[in-house]
Amino acid sequence: MSNSTPLPSSKTILLHNDKPIDIDTLRLNSLSNNSTVLDLVKELGLTNPSQAVALYVNALPADFSALLCECEKIELFDFDDAQGRGKEVFWHSTAHILAQAVLRLYPNAQPTIGPAISGGFYYDFAGLDISLEDLKKIEKEMQKIAKNGATPTRETFSAEKAKELFHDNPFKLEIINDLLKPKEDQLSNNNSPVFSGYRQEEFFDLCRGPHLSSLSKVKAIKLLKTSGAYWRGDSTNVMLTRIYGVSFPSKDLLKEHLTFLAEAAARDHKMLGPKLDLFSFHPESPGVPFLHPSGLILFEKLLSFWRELHKKRGYQEIKTPQLLTKSLWETSGHWDHYKENMFVTQSEDREFALKPMSCPGGMLYYKSKHFSYKDLPLKLSEVGLVHRNEFSGALSGLFRVRAFHQDDAHIFLLPEQIAEQVCEILELIAEIYSTFDLSWSLELSTRPSTHTIGTDEQWENATQGLENALKRYGMNYKVNPGDGAFYGPKIDVHVGDAIGRSWQCATIQLDMALPERFNLEYTDATAKRQRPIMLHRAILGSVERFMGILIEHYKGRLPLWLNPQQVRVVPVAHSHHEMAEKIHNQLIELGFHSKVDDRNESMGKRIRCAQLEQVNYMLVIGDKEVETGDLSLRSRENPDSANVSLNEFLEKLCTERNTRSNKSLF
Ligand code: ZN
Repeated sequence: MSNSTPLPSSKTILLHNDKPIDIDTLRLNSLSNNSTVLDLVKELGLTNPSQAVALYVNALPADFSALLCECEKIELFDFDDAQGRGKEVFWHSTAHILAQAVLRLYPNAQPTIGPAISGGFYYDFAGLDISLEDLKKIEKEMQKIAKNGATPTRETFSAEKAKELFHDNPFKLEIINDLLKPKEDQLSNNNSPVFSGYRQEEFFDLCRGPHLSSLSKVKAIKLLKTSGAYWRGDSTNVMLTRIYGVSFPSKDLLKEHLTFLAEAAARDHKMLGPKLDLFSFHPESPGVPFLHPSGLILFEKLLSFWRELHKKRGYQEIKTPQLLTKSLWETSGHWDHYKENMFVTQSEDREFALKPMSCPGGMLYYKSKHFSYKDLPLKLSEVGLVHRNEFSGALSGLFRVRAFHQDDAHIFLLPEQIAEQVCEILELIAEIYSTFDLSWSLELSTRPSTHTIGTDEQWENATQGLENALKRYGMNYKVNPGDGAFYGPKIDVHVGDAIGRSWQCATIQLDMALPERFNLEYTDATAKRQRPIMLHRAILGSVERFMGILIEHYKGRLPLWLNPQQVRVVPVAHSHHEMAEKIHNQLIELGFHSKVDDRNESMGKRIRCAQLEQVNYMLVIGDKEVETGDLSLRSRENPDSANVSLNEFLEKLCTERNTRSNKSLF
């Protein structure tokens, strides 16, 4: 090391993708007192475009121009950082490139906002009228800008200056004025707020930052689509033009991502559901699915599987009303904290609300009886139809609806039963998810730092109970400190589907609030009244949403046991009709969903139709079949026909269904 004071000092904490780097072992010869984090990054050799795309200094997002001497803790994140900190900066910087390119090509457009989102970024423009074809042109211009490799540089200025700089952009002016509003107190203290903007070549944008150290890191850009979007999401405001895009530090990553998007689109349940005649939506009930005959069969099959496993574990199912009085929702706390999400109505001068969850009804059932410690754990399940007044713009297929069935259950227990009961729920979750070949991971959320109910001791016991259960269950889990509900800690379960997407489905929540609010009791061994511990848990979450996940996971090719279209019997000619009917009736007798397709259409057309409907098995009945009594079988997986005896077919079909196999046995 040189004799000048090299920085960072050994007091500095340096992390790369959350892993510590031992600074003392580094030879940081070229660094001096006015070196920046970017100098350090180069010294560390993190020069690949995907490396060190985001920076946190002293736990806050920062630019790479930060001076090392001002850093106590430096955290560098790559593009693939698991928490998305790398992608956020990368995509936000690309949104600026988009705005710069648009202004070059359409000088009259006015940039408004351009955030990073979960799958890339967008930028909203006023005064821009483009079509899908124009995106190519914009993309080209963006590539040019990226290649030029400017460094977005931060400038700070006063409110007055901000208004002057953006005087011709009413949208930016509105943002500036809004930022000034909550800070009026400070203004009176002569603390004028400082605004910031970023400059890259001729383009300058009002922006909080931070940004990439160089735009040359953006090696691949794809503009995905354009749509209308109201300014600030408010339909009374002007309609803007939104351009969506995504970008990557390498062309290969973009290619991979586009393949993934194509695969996801081919699995989209909003497209497959109507195609398979499972459900539809109608403007007469926004966000509430109409289940078609096949959709209802799928729904019922899921629930009967669910009920079978719950019954085995001693659950008792109840059904409570959907419409309940305001006073109940006041007791439960929903009227104060959740009313804007509830559908409210009146009858005989009393206010009512449709339930947004089944819990309070479940509490009334518990209160209607007397339970002793010997009755605990008491497991009450309810598949309740709940309504939530979701913003209509946020509705999306079965994933975001206004009415759905939630598979909640309430388990009332003694404090010492927490670990054992939670462990049992985890086993139930495992049994259900593995049946669908879904993977899953666990997360524990602990006590939030403020606004919680319950004593320290209660939280300690509750959290310890959940942790003991997780340890006993033996699967790795992630801890989210402070992410619990105000009424208790929880375990969230994330499901991984066939193409690696993750969905939050199951949740196990310890609730210290409702037993208190509803004054729930049981009598202990000494005949004293005690407050039970209560767990809520859902496994499918929303049954409708879970159906959507399954449709996408299986790409519409539902396994036999779930499929509403299991067998199609196709007689070649009229003379084969009798045998076709006979087999069909046998299948119905055995509880299968079978149909005879004797339409006056060609054989090829009828087979193709069954294939498009994702029917598991097709039986073609012709002269040979009538003569021998054997069957000509085609499976969805194998288009070649095979001969099989009727008995063998029925036997294997029953086995495949009854074992809930994900694979065809033929
Ligand atoms: Zn509940």
